Amino acid sequence: MVSGKAKKELARIFGKRLKEDLSHRIAYSFDATRISYPPELVAFPLKTKEISLAVKTAAEYKFPIIARGSGTGFSGGAVPVEGGLVLSFSKMRSLEIRKQEMIGIVEPGVITEELQHEAEKYGLFYPPDPASLKNSTIGGNLAENAGGPRCLKYGVTKNYVLGLEVVLPDGEVISIGRGLQKNVAGYDLISLFVGSEGTLGIITKAYLRLVPKPPIARSIRADFKNVRDASTAATAVLYSGILPSALEFMDKESLKAAGEYLGKDISADASLLIQIDGDEKSVNSQLKRIAKVLKEYRPIDILVSTSDEEEEMVWKLRRSISSAISKLKPIKVNEDIVVPRGKIPDAVDFIYQLAGKQSIDVIVFGHMGDGNIHVNFMIEKEQSESASGAVEELFKWVIEQGGSISGEHGIGITKAKYLESQLGERQTQLMREIKRLLDPHNIMNPGKIFS
Ligand SMILES: Cc1cc2nc3c(=O)[nH]c(=O)nc-3n(C[C@H](O)[C@H](O)[C@H](O)COP(=O)(O)OP(=O)(O)OC[C@H]3O[C@@H](n4cnc5c(N)ncnc54)[C@H](O)[C@@H]3O)c2cc1C
Repeated sequence: MVSGKAKKELARIFGKRLKEDLSHRIAYSFDATRISYPPELVAFPLKTKEISLAVKTAAEYKFPIIARGSGTGFSGGAVPVEGGLVLSFSKMRSLEIRKQEMIGIVEPGVITEELQHEAEKYGLFYPPDPASLKNSTIGGNLAENAGGPRCLKYGVTKNYVLGLEVVLPDGEVISIGRGLQKNVAGYDLISLFVGSEGTLGIITKAYLRLVPKPPIARSIRADFKNVRDASTAATAVLYSGILPSALEFMDKESLKAAGEYLGKDISADASLLIQIDGDEKSVNSQLKRIAKVLKEYRPIDILVSTSDEEEEMVWKLRRSISSAISKLKPIKVNEDIVVPRGKIPDAVDFIYQLAGKQSIDVIVFGHMGDGNIHVNFMIEKEQSESASGAVEELFKWVIEQGGSISGEHGIGITKAKYLESQLGERQTQLMREIKRLLDPHNIMNPGKIFS
């Protein structure tokens, strides 16, 4: 609860950029999970100093403080479950590219795609590409350690972080890393803050590594008559000695829904979308080798993009799936499990059998190349219990296979009760101790990660 005295201090810091009206409280109450808890206040900082003062106020008066990007999170990370103050970074969007150093220096409110476009103007490339890149912020990407299709070849967000400015839960501002390409002085605090879901501190600036932009990218879409052929073909491509920049899987319903969303008629039981980037000659020769591997698994069609426009179109289809399928049923229970690559075909079989057993619809797509599969149980309200049962059984199976309950969406509130079953007691306790050490009053995004 934010006391009257605390509100006065916050008003002194933010002036008219502090909002208490119902429309702001509702607008900042939910994320893509649609779970909703209104905050008491929303503020729009312009600089780190204001954030530091607001956090000092929260530490003194003991109220929750929740960092928020664009609210596209899929695990409830930005949902203010215990009320308090939401900080929106929509006015902190400065972005500088240093070409010689090959780094981008960004404030947290920069939209992922803005950074990518700006880097491209200098012949540089920021590879992490969550499907939400037109809306998600760099702050949210850092806090969730976001992934995306290209992470197969290029790695996830944390692989591009060279430095961070963080406001700690006592309001002190620290600079970690300073943008150096190499730095092993002390423990790796960058890795601690990246992926910490706004529970350990607020990221106010990041130094991000950029790489040379590959001259072209082209993709193969291969349609199969069943899911098993597609998933087995995917593993064969991975073992073929070629590393695609992306290897995605789409099942029948995801293809159909994304096709309709884009006004196209697409029908196949399963598809793989495989992207190669680099110089033209090498891209063409690798695509030919991949097509040869795929042909051993009886594809019904193989399409290759031959221009930037066709390439954009085929990836638009892939990136539209999540939004397209949301319209199919009242509730989408969306999980992003990871299994070891060799277990991908078994995982896909297991998911369909599980949904059949619980009599619920399931839509499967995702980053098959790195074993990260998006499992969407599509349900009516009255099927919630069956879906919870399916999720529990899915996570149990995934953990038994040596996998993970989340590859990119984070734990937030939706997976908090399962975390210990994956990590075990000691690791979970260690994480709780780290949280207590940094945030003894539990003001920084409380109610997340740990049940
Ligand atoms: C259609 C769709 C497709 C998606 N596809 C992908 C995908 O391919 N890959 C993927 O990884 N994710 C994906 N996501 C999930 C989501 O977009 C990512 O998790 C993204 O990183 C969230 O960014 P955001 O700005 O919306 O953050 P929010 O949802 O606002 O916040 C997410 C978390 O970050 C914290 N946070 C935000 N800013 C800061 C900050 N400055 N300092 C500290 N903590 C902060 C919040 O407190 C919260 O815990 C998708 C979501 C949608 C809706």
